[in-house]
Amino acid sequence: MNLNIQDTFNKELPADPIKENTRRQVEEAAYSFVTPRVPSAPKVLHISEEMLKELGITAEEAKSDLFKNIFTGAAIYPDTHPYAMCYAGHQFGNWAGQLGDGRAINLMEIVYNNNRWALQLKGAGATPYSRTADGLAVLRSSIREHLCSEAMYHLGVPTTRSLSLSITGVQVMRDIMYNGNPAYEKGAVVCRVAPSFIRFGNLQIFMARKDTKNLKALVDYTIKHFYPHIKGTGKEAYIQFYKEVMERSLDMVIHWQRVGFVHGVMNTDNMSILGLTIDYGPYGWLEGYDPDWTPNTTDASGKRYRFGNQPSIVLWNVVQLGNALYPIIEDVDAMEVVLNSFNEAFAKKYHFMMLDKMGLSFDKLRMTNTKADSQLILDLQKNLRAIETDMTIFFRNLANVKRVMSNNEAIDIIKDAFYTPSDFDSEVKENWHQWFTQYLQRLNREKQSDADRKVKMNSVNPKYVLRNYMAQLAIDNADKGDYKLIDELYQLLKKPYDEQPEHEQWFAKRPDWARNKVGCSMLSCSS
Ligand code: AMP
Ligand code: MG
Repeated sequence: MNLNIQDTFNKELPADPIKENTRRQVEEAAYSFVTPRVPSAPKVLHISEEMLKELGITAEEAKSDLFKNIFTGAAIYPDTHPYAMCYAGHQFGNWAGQLGDGRAINLMEIVYNNNRWALQLKGAGATPYSRTADGLAVLRSSIREHLCSEAMYHLGVPTTRSLSLSITGVQVMRDIMYNGNPAYEKGAVVCRVAPSFIRFGNLQIFMARKDTKNLKALVDYTIKHFYPHIKGTGKEAYIQFYKEVMERSLDMVIHWQRVGFVHGVMNTDNMSILGLTIDYGPYGWLEGYDPDWTPNTTDASGKRYRFGNQPSIVLWNVVQLGNALYPIIEDVDAMEVVLNSFNEAFAKKYHFMMLDKMGLSFDKLRMTNTKADSQLILDLQKNLRAIETDMTIFFRNLANVKRVMSNNEAIDIIKDAFYTPSDFDSEVKENWHQWFTQYLQRLNREKQSDADRKVKMNSVNPKYVLRNYMAQLAIDNADKGDYKLIDELYQLLKKPYDEQPEHEQWFAKRPDWARNKVGCSMLSCSS
């Protein structure tokens, strides 16, 4: 395995001079050097073939002991210098001070096919940023991160990736629901991959400490490597940078709303400076379309990170990023222009995304039909909430509606998506009838054929997503030592938009047993 190591973060930015692995506040440094903990009995359970190719590692090499050792923390690749990043953040809206990579250790950066990739182990032991925790990860959360990262990538959602999922042989104590019932679980390590793991919080920490010199150094570094088209190192460049981070974050959340993904912990330390979905913890997938749903039990009371609130939270986080950048921009007006453009840009992109999901073209009608289309979207959302309706099944089946159909025929096509058909009573029924009257009229003004529309809709409405209970089944099996379902789901989710008749069983509503089960509808940060 010959990796083209091209480290930059730990070469170009200031390191914490202290080398001991003790928990502490780290100042005037972007990271601390740290060595992964050697696992007692590492075993690779699953590897992403796509990610292997991206990194130029052959399937043969992936079977080697070297691969296993490097990507579980048992050995360090020659001439690399692993480190944990220093960052801060707002957690659930409150300033939390220094956080940092408490259980992530960056191994190295690789350049392959002109793409830069940072590789990072999650769960490979404590770092100076571990605070009171152990730096470890358990198998259940690692399966969820590994499968979901790759599934999101194949859905076309900007995301960090996952190269490998391994168990360490170490037992890890966790109290899953924070209710005084701790138990041992299998420890695991995921090797995450992204061009960079810099978060909003990496900038916030320098602002909080009034360390403008390092704030500027980190922003210059980020622009140089990841926004290279932005030239210069002055105010103009930083405003442009701020605008582009805002736009990328906005695009990311539009994708989440499109596929029904709920992140669960959108703290500023979990916001990538590259607009990637990062830190798969207590995330979940909408089953019934419910904007108020959050998978995270820690967030159950305030529901700050509920599905329908995600776009506002992105804006809130972008405001915090603005505060962090302010010392090197010092131009409130220019920054407000960026912030003020968020809502309008969101409204537009969201509108077009929803029309795409509904199979309605908007290029020519854009100027004339916006109001009526907005109403159609609003009414649809109201109906989807009035009777528990599976989001994925609804939109996928909607593509089978034909222009010549009657309301009743169209409703027949989508009613499989209803969880409790008995709720389809008079008022709900009447509203759906009214909606389909409007929708069918609108379809009849479309130039595209039913068949063409279906192809387009099926390219934005996935057939298969990592439903909460599916990940939980893979976890339950893995706990018993059976890892087959991990690969089965991974293979399935590589082609989320394709019909896969042999996998039709996964195109189904959440089974009843999963409605209120821990791990399916209720997740905690305890991972
Ligand atoms: P999260 O909510 O997972 O994004 O984590 C928030 C902060 O807690 C980050 O600084 C993490 O590195 C840290 N953290 C989470 N779990 C652990 C753990 N098991 N050991 C050490 N630090 C952790
Ligand atoms: Mg985090």
